[in-house]
Amino acid sequence: MSQTYYDLLGVSQTASFDEIKRAFRQKAKACHPDYHPNDKEAERQFKAINEAYEVLKDEQKRAAYDQYGHEAFVNGMGAGAGRGFGGFDFSGSGFESIFEEMFNGFSGGARRTRTAQRRGADKRVDLTVTLEEAYRGLKKKVSVETYVPCEACQAKGGKNTETCATCGGQGHIRQRQGFFVMETECPVCHGMGKTVKDPCGSCQGTGRVYKKRTLEVNIPAGVDTGVRMRLSGEGDAGLNGSAPGDLYVFLSVKEHELFKREGEFLFCEVPVPMTTAALGGEVLVPTIDGQGEKVTVKAGLQSGTQIRLKGKGMPQLKGNGFGDLFVEFKVETPTHLTARQKELLTEFATAGQGNQSACDAFVDKIKKFFGS
Ligand SMILES: [Zn+2]
Ligand SMILES: [Zn+2]
Repeated sequence: MSQTYYDLLGVSQTASFDEIKRAFRQKAKACHPDYHPNDKEAERQFKAINEAYEVLKDEQKRAAYDQYGHEAFVNGMGAGAGRGFGGFDFSGSGFESIFEEMFNGFSGGARRTRTAQRRGADKRVDLTVTLEEAYRGLKKKVSVETYVPCEACQAKGGKNTETCATCGGQGHIRQRQGFFVMETECPVCHGMGKTVKDPCGSCQGTGRVYKKRTLEVNIPAGVDTGVRMRLSGEGDAGLNGSAPGDLYVFLSVKEHELFKREGEFLFCEVPVPMTTAALGGEVLVPTIDGQGEKVTVKAGLQSGTQIRLKGKGMPQLKGNGFGDLFVEFKVETPTHLTARQKELLTEFATAGQGNQSACDAFVDKIKKFFGS
């Protein structure tokens, strides 16, 4: 039985965002790899609390986590949907970027580990889709500029590698500053421990070149603003053939002119002519699948009446179901009446108003209020 994310951060389930943030900073500092080099347990702990924070800091993810529970949440996403290309990363493993965001302040940005430096950087690309696209899911092309492996030297950076003379192949150098011995990355080989004797002309010996590329992203049905997808290995190529970073696609969904959305639920206001409201009849309600649905309203429909169309909302991102569509009818009073229309309505008024219980009750209350 694993600990919940709340346990990991040592906060209650009702903790505010600020409390969570504070707890995270404290815990992250306590087990930060920079202060505990080669300590596997500290590293494991650091990853775990980052994972917890990734979820709890995000309102949507936190709500989903609360709803589905730890076990379901952790096993449900990441594992099933796959974390490879086009996989859907919900549990949040982009901990390096948080790591940098948070600790650049402490370390001045200069202290990065050897592996972090050699591995290519993670990249971010923003993508906006329409509500209809989010409903169906789609393949979308995105343009990104990243480092890619240099073809001319097969990412080796050139010919004839030799042990770096500056660091003796260690990848880092030690410098004495007062009482302290600082270990920094070797500026000559960038932590590789090797240098190239005949550097490649295309990439100046780095083994990678900058290039604009087009990728096809598989966007699953049901995505919402704030959803982030990870394309493994599609970030910057690493130095001299080292592992590439990942590409993160940050999604946002455009506002729709007919529908408002809350998670898997859609809301729509539908105007109804006064006469249809009074006499009853058919009203065409738009649906996100583009079909529309004819709804029969009974005579005497009131403005503000709501109905719920089951399964006519958005598809669930985690699951096969659909949310519902909530429709609110708004009865419209006509303006700019013709003489004939006025005549008819006046005649209607003099024939008695029909049963208008709210109006009648209101008049009674007014009478009582004025004491007559
Ligand atoms: Zn090259
Ligand atoms: Zn070196």
